[in-house]
Amino acid sequence: MGRPARVTHGMSAPFAWIRPEPSGIHILPADAWVDPSRAVPRALVTHGHADHARGGHGITIATSATLAIMELRYNTREGASPVDYGESIAIGGGVSATFLPAGHVLGSAQILLEHAGERVIITGDYKRAPDPTCEAFAVTPCDIFITEATFGLPVFTHPPISEEIGKLLTARAENPESCILVGAYALGKAQRVIAELRAAGHHDTIWLHGAMEAMCRLYEEHGVMLGDLRLVSDAPSKEAMRGHIILAPPSALNDRWSRRLPDPITAMASGWMRVRARARQRGVELPLVISDHADWNELTRTIREVNPAETWITHGREEALLRWCELNQRRARALALVGYEDEDD
Ligand SMILES: [Zn+2]
Ligand SMILES: [Zn+2]
Repeated sequence: MGRPARVTHGMSAPFAWIRPEPSGIHILPADAWVDPSRAVPRALVTHGHADHARGGHGITIATSATLAIMELRYNTREGASPVDYGESIAIGGGVSATFLPAGHVLGSAQILLEHAGERVIITGDYKRAPDPTCEAFAVTPCDIFITEATFGLPVFTHPPISEEIGKLLTARAENPESCILVGAYALGKAQRVIAELRAAGHHDTIWLHGAMEAMCRLYEEHGVMLGDLRLVSDAPSKEAMRGHIILAPPSALNDRWSRRLPDPITAMASGWMRVRARARQRGVELPLVISDHADWNELTRTIREVNPAETWITHGREEALLRWCELNQRRARALALVGYEDEDD
């Protein structure tokens, strides 16, 4: 609001066509925004998490899976403009956009923007660890790499997910008279935990909080099979869930809802579980360090592999990564964007 619809001056300076503004990355010649935190006429959306995808845009350009997630969560159907991974589209003003897999959640994309021979990639959220529920991050050369930094401190290292799934299955085997209640975000984390349990040979019923049902169904409609899932509200008795694994949103872990479960042992799947105090604070007995974001090693490895002329850091702990870039003779700057608070760590 109050901003001119088109800016025609200053376009000749390198990268003057792309500008980080508090409410998102502004692509000036196309008058479009990436992951804007307010409603805009034209938005490019990296993925369906609430801090990136918002309703109310005139046109929303995103992968069809992201658009389906947005429709489910925010009832946004109008103005939906789907793109495939790898397909380059003209978005106006001589700018083209290509959505590339980010390995974060179903449908998640990095966005490559090209204008006058200059290439900028906005990662959105990403990770490098394998995930059976989404396509792997594609390393792509560019001039400016705008990276997230949610876990941008050396202390954050995520163990292989097989170790954490192993802990969960061991706890379940050792406690046949209880159930294991796992807190997991409803978009991405829950489906990844289920898919990894299946891959580890766990084919029993997994019980779900009602808030996860629709998203699990959407994943299955997109070809991610999750096996035998049932709703806790449909359980014939408490006894039916004894010795089983149950998934619920983190907010349900300690509320009234969990009283219907048989002697639950509380677990939580999150990158923040690396921090013991966080686990204790939430009353988590079984912390599982499972994250859909790059850890410190993945962030630095990715910057090395992409090898951009310049790295812009946003969305998390910018300072340590900025310092790492300086120590490694890499040009970098921290961006101050607002509104990114993770629902999806
Ligand atoms: Zn996310
Ligand atoms: Zn995010």
